[in-house]
Amino acid sequence: MTSRAYVGLGANLGADLGATLTQAALHLAALPGTQVSALSSLWRSAPVDAEGPDFVNAVVALDTGLAPLPLLDALQAIELAHGRERPYRHAPRTLDLDLLLYDDAVLDTPRLTLPHPRLGERAFVLRPLLEIAPGLIGLASGAAWQTQRIERLGPLSL
Ligand code: ADP
Ligand code: MG
Repeated sequence: MTSRAYVGLGANLGADLGATLTQAALHLAALPGTQVSALSSLWRSAPVDAEGPDFVNAVVALDTGLAPLPLLDALQAIELAHGRERPYRHAPRTLDLDLLLYDDAVLDTPRLTLPHPRLGERAFVLRPLLEIAPGLIGLASGAAWQTQRIERLGPLSL
């Protein structure tokens, strides 16, 4: 039995941000019991609640046998493999992997909140998410995301 998870990918430090996200998506595809079932486009966005240069973002849909916390562990291991450091809150990051949704799980623990708490306020999450899951339009309830600067760069391909 598998679950459907949506993972948000973002990067704003490094020479080739699109390549970083492609490599991260390949790591996701290689997780045990996990398949990538959809890939959004690559999007360029202005930093929101973060610092530094523009971000490149994407969202990937996974069909996975991993439970939410082991999946979060795996996401954080992939971040570390890409040299992610957390010098301070909202610092620029080489790679950020957020677990946006996991089936219809609702969770509020110190390590993991589901759905991701700021999901409905961020264009850089909603635009790619709605590309691959238009049925989730109900999540885009807020107004703030509609004025955030974001542009489509091209396909994310593995
Ligand atoms: P952010 O992504 O908000 O900029 P971080 O990537 O540094 O910040 O994550 C901070 C913490 O958020 C992580 O240590 C993780 O345990 C926690 N967290 C809570 N819910 C989630 C989620 N749905 N996806 C990813 N991380 C989460
Ligand atoms: Mg994160």
